[in-house]
Order: sequence, then C-alpha cells, then structure tokens
Amino acid sequence: MSLLTAENLSFSYPLDEGKKLDIFHNWNLKVQEGEILCLLGPSGCGKSTVLKLLAGFLAPSSGSVFYRDNPVRAPFKMGQMIFQDPSQLLPWLTVRENVLFPNIRRMPARRRKATLRKEPDEQLQQILGLSGMEEYGDFYPSQLSGGMKQRCALARSLYANPEILFMDEPFVSLDAPSRNSLQKLVLKLWEEKKKTILFVTHDIAEALLLADRLMILSTLNGAVKIQENPLSRPRRRQNPDFLKQEARLYSYLESSEMTL
Ligand code: ADP
Ligand code: MG
Repeated sequence: MSLLTAENLSFSYPLDEGKKLDIFHNWNLKVQEGEILCLLGPSGCGKSTVLKLLAGFLAPSSGSVFYRDNPVRAPFKMGQMIFQDPSQLLPWLTVRENVLFPNIRRMPARRRKATLRKEPDEQLQQILGLSGMEEYGDFYPSQLSGGMKQRCALARSLYANPEILFMDEPFVSLDAPSRNSLQKLVLKLWEEKKKTILFVTHDIAEALLLADRLMILSTLNGAVKIQENPLSRPRRRQNPDFLKQEARLYSYLESSEMTL
C-alpha cells in the first residue's frame, strides 16, 4: 500500500496583478512505505513546494494528497518536517526541552514547567542517544555546532514517532564531515526504525547515497521524472559505479531538457 499519495496535483503561487506562477500541473506520486525518496533538482525548481504540499504545509491549487487514504489538509503528527535552517530550534530552551517542546506547548504553563523539570523519560534518552546527542541534553542551541543543531531538530521530530520524515535540504549548511555523519544517521533511521523518508537535496551525490528512488524536477516546465536508484547498498562514494552514476545524473540535470 502506498503510504502517501498525490493525485492530479497542481500548484501555483499567486503573484501581483492577478498573475500566477505555475509550479506543476496534474502530477501524481505514490510513496511506498519504508522507502527513501530523494527530490533532486536545481534551485528554484519547486522542491520545497512539493515537500510542503505533501506534508500539508501548503494546500494544492487542485488535486489531493492522502496519507494512508486520509486526505492531508494540514501538517500531521505522523509526518514530521525537518528544515535546512539550524535556527529552527528555540534558543531559550535546552536540547532536551527543544525535543520535548512540540509535545508540551499546548499544556498549561504550570504543567509544562513541571514536565520540563522531571527526570528525562526513557524514550527521550533513547532518542537523544540515537541522534548522538545524549551528552548534550542540557546545552542551549548557541552552544551547539550546526551539525549538532540538526541532530537536535531530528531528535525533536523523532520524539513524535512519525512514520514519515520530510527533510528539506537539512544538511546544506554543514561542513563535509558533519554532513557525512548525518547522512549515516539518516540511513540508520531508515534501516533500524523503518522510517519512510522524503529527502530534498540539490546534491547529486547525497541523493545517490540515500535514495531508493530519485524524483527529478525540472525548472523548464514543471516536468517530473521518477527513477529507481540503480546502485545497490551499501554505497560508497569512491566506488566506480557510484562515480559513473553521479556523472550520468550530472549531465542529465545539465542537459537543456532539464534546466533553463
Ligand atoms: P526549490 O526548493 O527547488 O529551490 P521552491 O519550491 O522554494 O524551489 O520555489 C519554486 C519557485 O516558486 C521559485 O521560482 C520560487 O521563487 C517560487 N516561490 C517560492 N515560494 C513562493 C511564494 N511564497 N510566492 C511566490 N513564489 C514563490
Ligand atoms: Mg528549497
């Protein structure tokens, strides 16, 4: 069964003077349970827009999105979004409090304070451990590196125990070693926790490393192509097959068909 389905989806942004910017038209997608689907394409082609539509942050101009046959009309708990901006954490809360925050923000103030003061529960400790943040529960965001902030954002999303992780270029601002170790963390979550992951990137190697399927978006006319990742797992960037696929995809994206 498809976990997430887009049916005849069209979307345009309204512009001034009654004009509109068409992003895509009558577009269909079935996301399979447990897959990593990477959305790849040049800047401005509509990757973030697609992700926001699928996660319920934007409403389509026409067509529908379904999560397990339920219409998606707003962000839902089983689908958690991780953005690229490390400042998505609340600076006045510690790592532990940031992870807990979405679950306690609707509580009355007194109960919220009591919950934050309590000893961390086992689930929280486990998630901090899984995310490589067990040592940093009492740190504030200003005391963390960019990579640690993204680990914290990931831990916060995992606390809701979602089925789907929507990740919008989450590692784009990180240095190469941090990016590599976070890519490994994504693969671990997929392998051990069986998460379904929709991962936006414009980095071809990152997409090839992570994806079961690649969804390639064009800037030209909203065209979308979906293809299987031909590389078997585990994958290594230095492997000749990997380099060959990287070169192939690079020239495909560069071709006049795919870019302006
Ligand atoms: P990507 O994530 O691939 O870089 P986006 O989905 O952010 O692309 O944007 C796709 C296109 O829509 C771009 O041309 C962008 O300028 C435009 N766009 C994005 N957000 C808005 C908005 N709120 N209003 C109008 N145009 C927008
Ligand atoms: Mg974007």
